[in-house]
Amino acid sequence: MAVSTTNAGRVIVIGLDGASWNIIEPLVRQGKLPVIEKIMKDGCYGDMESCILPVTFPAWKCYSTGKNPGKLGVYGFHAVDFAGNRLILNNSTCFKGDEIWDIMGRNNLTCGVLDMPTTHPPKAINGFMVSRGATRSAGYTYPAELQKELREIFHYKIEPDYLPRIAWDASIPSIRQIIEQRFEVADYLLRKYDPAFFHLTIFETDTIHHFYPEEIVAGFWDVIDRNIGSLLDKFLDAKTYVILMSDHGQVETNRAFNMGKWLMDNNLLVMKKRRLLLESLLYKFGLRRNIILHVMGKTRIIPLLRFYIPKSIRRKFIASLPVEKDKPDQYASIDSIDWERSKTIPIPGFYLYINRKLFGSEKEVEEFRSSIKVMMEDIKEPRTGKAFARVFRADEIYSGNYLGSAPDLLLLPDDGCRITVSPGGEDFWNYSTEGWPRTHRMHGIFAACGAGIKGDFRIEGTTIYDLAPTILHIYGIPIPRDIDGRVLKEIFEDSSTLATREVEYQDADERTRIIGTIKQLKDRGQA
Ligand SMILES: [Zn+2]
Repeated sequence: MAVSTTNAGRVIVIGLDGASWNIIEPLVRQGKLPVIEKIMKDGCYGDMESCILPVTFPAWKCYSTGKNPGKLGVYGFHAVDFAGNRLILNNSTCFKGDEIWDIMGRNNLTCGVLDMPTTHPPKAINGFMVSRGATRSAGYTYPAELQKELREIFHYKIEPDYLPRIAWDASIPSIRQIIEQRFEVADYLLRKYDPAFFHLTIFETDTIHHFYPEEIVAGFWDVIDRNIGSLLDKFLDAKTYVILMSDHGQVETNRAFNMGKWLMDNNLLVMKKRRLLLESLLYKFGLRRNIILHVMGKTRIIPLLRFYIPKSIRRKFIASLPVEKDKPDQYASIDSIDWERSKTIPIPGFYLYINRKLFGSEKEVEEFRSSIKVMMEDIKEPRTGKAFARVFRADEIYSGNYLGSAPDLLLLPDDGCRITVSPGGEDFWNYSTEGWPRTHRMHGIFAACGAGIKGDFRIEGTTIYDLAPTILHIYGIPIPRDIDGRVLKEIFEDSSTLATREVEYQDADERTRIIGTIKQLKDRGQA
């Protein structure tokens, strides 16, 4: 190691899932978020571009590795298993590549990670990790004993008791409780274990933006602002950098496009008839998913069901209920896909795989892909414009060793357009934003303050890939050459060491390369 890391100080990253300046800045201008306002004034801030597609999974890993999904081998929540005709939920073990805490750990720096999506099951790092992920159940911390400690001291909750779609009124205090608890736990872990680097994600901001109206959103941001304030009061000293960031942004929904219906109408997707019949029957009798969930929430049945019925069965039951006509659900009907007859398999998020079983050669696949790409780029609605801002082939936007498992097409929604996969729906376009007021967009937030960070500076052109190299640069650790981002030198005061010191790079070392090769062989079933 060329540069000493002992005097580097500490970086604290506060990740706010789905945070967006278009939502936060109006509240700042109204004087409602004094702490964030001060960070903007004393430090620098700006939009930060997410990965394509701007989805939580894999976006958080793009942040922690500084690498695009083609180098990580994960493109979304799900992977497609064509041999088994099913979707598989990805977890942390599916990702390749070093995260900043792996690199810092090898440089003898201790790290703490709290509740970042994509981290379950947790892995061993030089420090501690409280993981988060869709498949999270028992065993969510490293070291394992930390879980008991958090349960005993905080009654640590891995998720809110109530969610807005299930129990609206109860969800608000329930989500607030989670946010407060995350900050309390962050404070405790920072004091007790004193890590050289600390990352905290508040995931709930994404849920808040998706579902609640403006005034409720403002109330939650007040809670977040005050909590960031007390964390800064305790830990922001002359040797500490604080970074606020998000994995992607959110924007007001102004329309929804039913991609499932479009694919069905174009003979690209075929659903199993019996499933659709069941859905339409339940629909005829007025049994809608949100109504049933609402009644269950009102009668407090949910906690009982949670206790007695396993999650997989609860999910199956809920998935079998038809959604309300005007509120197509992203995850509806995936189970009903006819894999023997569907030329494309759509994955919410939104991307498409081509079902190669139905094609003679890769040349045919290529022709088919080019033709549907053009068709999809052309999907327009006369009043509001396109469904997709761009439709990409993976090799147009990604690079790396794992392009082989990439989706055939990645569909980036136009700003404000929500894409749904509800083949049972009746219309392509839907203008009701009720129940889903905001949807993801590419630009999330970046802000930084602390020792030697420029004040009142609006930074342009940052991407989610830039944080990992910038953090390593602060600690004086050489940056792996295959990282996609750049060091954001312009955030440091012009005369400071961090602004003037040359960025140091390092080739992937022998050890990393060997581990990578073994992993690849394992994936192919050869080791
Ligand atoms: Zn997210």
